[in-house]
Amino acid sequence: MRRLTVGQCAPLVFAGVMALMPLVLRGYPITLLSYVGMAATAALGLVLLTGVGGLTSFGQAAFVGVGAYATAWLTTAEGLSPWLGLLAALAATGALAWLLGMATLRLGGHLLPLSTIAWGLALFFLFGNLDALGRHNGLSDIPPAYLGSFPLRSANAGFYLIWVSLGLAMLACANLLDSRQGRAIRSLRGGSAMAESLGIPTFRLRLAVFVLAGMLAGLSGWQVAHVQRYVSPTAFDVGPGIEYLFMAMLGGAGHIFGAVVGAGLVTIARDELQDILPKLVANSGQLEAVVFGALFIVVLQRARGGLVPVVLRRLPSRVLSPPPDAPPLPRRTQPAAGTMLLAAQGLVKRFGGLAAVNDVSFDLRAGEILGLIGPNGAGKSTTFNLLTGAAAPTAGRIRFMGADITAEPARRIAGRGLARTFQHVRLRPTMSLLENTMLGAHLRGRAGMLRAVLRMDRAEERQLRAEAMRQLRRVGLGDMPHELAGNLPLGRQRVLEVARALAADPVLIVLDEPAAGLRRPEKLALAELLRALRAEGLTILLVEHDMEFVMGLVDRIVVMDFGVKLAEGAPADVRADARVQEAYLGGVA
Ligand code: ADP
Ligand code: MG
Repeated sequence: MRRLTVGQCAPLVFAGVMALMPLVLRGYPITLLSYVGMAATAALGLVLLTGVGGLTSFGQAAFVGVGAYATAWLTTAEGLSPWLGLLAALAATGALAWLLGMATLRLGGHLLPLSTIAWGLALFFLFGNLDALGRHNGLSDIPPAYLGSFPLRSANAGFYLIWVSLGLAMLACANLLDSRQGRAIRSLRGGSAMAESLGIPTFRLRLAVFVLAGMLAGLSGWQVAHVQRYVSPTAFDVGPGIEYLFMAMLGGAGHIFGAVVGAGLVTIARDELQDILPKLVANSGQLEAVVFGALFIVVLQRARGGLVPVVLRRLPSRVLSPPPDAPPLPRRTQPAAGTMLLAAQGLVKRFGGLAAVNDVSFDLRAGEILGLIGPNGAGKSTTFNLLTGAAAPTAGRIRFMGADITAEPARRIAGRGLARTFQHVRLRPTMSLLENTMLGAHLRGRAGMLRAVLRMDRAEERQLRAEAMRQLRRVGLGDMPHELAGNLPLGRQRVLEVARALAADPVLIVLDEPAAGLRRPEKLALAELLRALRAEGLTILLVEHDMEFVMGLVDRIVVMDFGVKLAEGAPADVRADARVQEAYLGGVA
């Protein structure tokens, strides 16, 4: 029999324990656990949005309110079934999240969290001022959900309604995160440039996560409406919104279970404090808020990632088998050696008065390694950015694989077969080597979110995993696919970036100063790897500062200085060129 890992056992044990709760507990504890479940459903949305996607929202409670009021109004005023109310709650929160996301997700820095406070407050005041929603009194006499003709009215029925729907939501989220789209979502934290360079549409993905988080709040609102059977605005203020965020962070914002742990701790602790504080202090009104504030600070100090990761670190690590072999993914037809692959013509890039790149032209032919060298500030990185779509040229044209790619966005250029690495390594340190490499193969998969949630993407996942494994072996990292990328020394991180680039099945791979910061044996190994790749027919453009590294490796060199092309030719000729010696080598060569 196959041995189950901790990760596979925990959900089963958890589901079993929760299913037995109503048999063991009676009365108030069940009600309290129902509150935990409702809060956990909303906090689960923030686990996706904040913990995984890196977007902070203080407005989650407002979305819970939208879901709660949508179903409350439809089932009381219009007499619809609560199950239709569920669809309405999900549709309303999803649509609203989409609209707000379109309007605010492009805001950078602190503007997005600030805007969530703004619309959170706006919605809160809206609930309290609409006559149809009962103004400050809210709506009451909401019908319970029915199973057939059986009303889910009792405390136990409410408990199961909440925890079954939460359990399904957790399963859906776990499936999503363990998929091609989920990896892409997990790559969103820490900037878009890397994800875009792999062909991942970051804005669309952020919007999707925002909508999902909103819909989970909608589900929570539906639970509230039909278990509690009344809704009133106070529960949907920004205050509770901050509390949901606290729950997600306390539990461990990157983990599905963090939502339950955080919601459980906060809900139960508040309940206890409301009992204890009045006995200790006379006028204890809002004192629990102060206690929570202090707790928040302690968590931020002691366990920034939340409690679940702290526990996971203490558990024995998972039993891991190497990924099974799967039929290979389809490959691109590589252009015949010597054909024109990339042509830069009269490239200009100005920053204000400074021409960082000034009328630079060069060609790249299939199967060669071209070195682009020059002293610091020569304009190499800027040229690199123009070629890879990270920046648009002021003038000039770039053709790649017979198409004009001038000013095309990075992710489109990636789709045409150009893969890149970064001068300052950009990996996802908390993802494994295998997952980082699988990110590189993003465009070679097709599975969307729905297929992932329903787990219909397994065959493709196996292919992607096998492909990533092949690339890890190819670069010499095949012995530890499950190690976290952040644990590698810099030299091997650079090599991992090469594996990620190779997983895209590129025709051209562009490396920005790959030898920077490497020790000599690491440089030699990297040069060996690049030679091997060329032998396999890959074309390589190397932007490099390190002369020694370039000379023995490349077929041709383009030298830049002060934004212009100074020389071009075979390494030996370039080395002999007097202007190059003066500008770059300082007469050493
Ligand atoms: P290299 O990679 O060859 O060291 P860069 O392409 O990074 O050179 O820089 C070329 C010149 O352009 C430098 O003088 C640099 O200061 C300037 N530069 C690069 N990027 C920007 C920018 N975003 N804004 C203004 N100046 C820039
Ligand atoms: Mg540079």
